[in-house]
Amino acid sequence: MKTIDELLAEGVAGKRVFVRADLNVPLDGTTITDDGRIRAVRPTVSALAAAGARVVVASHLGRPKGAPDPAFSLAPAAARLGELLGSEVAFATDTVGESARATVAALTDGQVAVIENLRFNAGETSKDDAERGAFADQLAELADLYVGDGFGAVHRKHASVFDLPARLPHAAGGLIATEVGVLKKLTEDVARPYAVVLGGAKVSDKLGVIDHLLEKADRILIGGGMAYTFLKAQGHEVGISLLQEDQVPAVQGYLKRAVELGVEFVLPVDVLVAHEFPDLKTKAPAHPATVAADAIPADQEGLDIGPATRELYAAKLADAATVFWNGPMGVFEHPDYAEGTKAVAQALVDSPAFSVVGGGDSAAAVRILGFDENAFGHISTGGGASLEYLEGKTLPGLAALED
Ligand code: ADP
Ligand code: MG
Repeated sequence: MKTIDELLAEGVAGKRVFVRADLNVPLDGTTITDDGRIRAVRPTVSALAAAGARVVVASHLGRPKGAPDPAFSLAPAAARLGELLGSEVAFATDTVGESARATVAALTDGQVAVIENLRFNAGETSKDDAERGAFADQLAELADLYVGDGFGAVHRKHASVFDLPARLPHAAGGLIATEVGVLKKLTEDVARPYAVVLGGAKVSDKLGVIDHLLEKADRILIGGGMAYTFLKAQGHEVGISLLQEDQVPAVQGYLKRAVELGVEFVLPVDVLVAHEFPDLKTKAPAHPATVAADAIPADQEGLDIGPATRELYAAKLADAATVFWNGPMGVFEHPDYAEGTKAVAQALVDSPAFSVVGGGDSAAAVRILGFDENAFGHISTGGGASLEYLEGKTLPGLAALED
């Protein structure tokens, strides 16, 4: 994999460099609630600009349906990138259309442009190789060189991630190099005890990683929306909590294999429940009740781990040497359900373990809840990407940068 330093040494002055970044930041309307991903790619963009490149930054944002949708515009992210760089950033209102071509053509050496959300074009995420390839051909016309630095998207076989680097001389950006370096540490000789904390809402996406982690980890703590599929697998009722019913047999298999392998599964002993999902806009008080994990009322929903579980999880993390954490413990966006996530973050801050936090929402949660990023070993910009890396899968966006 060619590094950005090697690319810079070869000289990029006057060259148009396409930087596939991950500017997929959480937004409240047009307000960025956490700019971590923009800050993470800034060094790559500024190094290229300083070397005289004409930098074309591209990214996806959210999941628009292959057509322009103002709710998913990259305009706020482009503005923020400009603030961080301390220089004006041009913005193209389309991806490969007239605006993009004119914006790129107008760049002078050292200037930066952001083009609009790649997913406004159906070719970006298409499963059809020809359709994706056609979009990649159009993107390739905008640049002379390609730098892959959108770690959060490297597990996607998308046009800008997988097909475009095949069409242009390419290198890996500094962010991808750092991310891969850290994750390698977790797959090779990891310091033990190795504890993994899994939570969040994308349950089916994340269950697959457990299969692999059972071979690697010493202890697996489960929280967030994931926990209810585990509690159900143990024979408990979970009311109207998030549940992946079809995964219950698989989870029962994991619990059984964990016993055989001597891996400790730690599940919530109590949870916070309410009759309904909280209002994340008004943040009106939700008045949750604390119940034992095996006594969730039929008409209620589990929305965070409870106080006894917070203590239990902190204790289980205190003596770990390595911790990988993906997925909030509860609906942390509402203050009444943020304590579980806070407790895990605090446990990592307090523990001497090398800690890696992965996942868009998990990383945002840590910062939004007021923790200092530097108190963690590494905060990854990619959730799905880091999980798939740990699963040992080949990531299309990394493979494309290899050759
Ligand atoms: P990440 O982006 O870190 O990989 P996910 O996207 O899987 O994490 O999940 C994050 C979301 O999970 C948050 O928006 C949070 O509100 C939600 N969540 C956490 N616990 C629960 C729960 N018990 N029920 C429903 N949603 C939950
Ligand atoms: Mg997420």
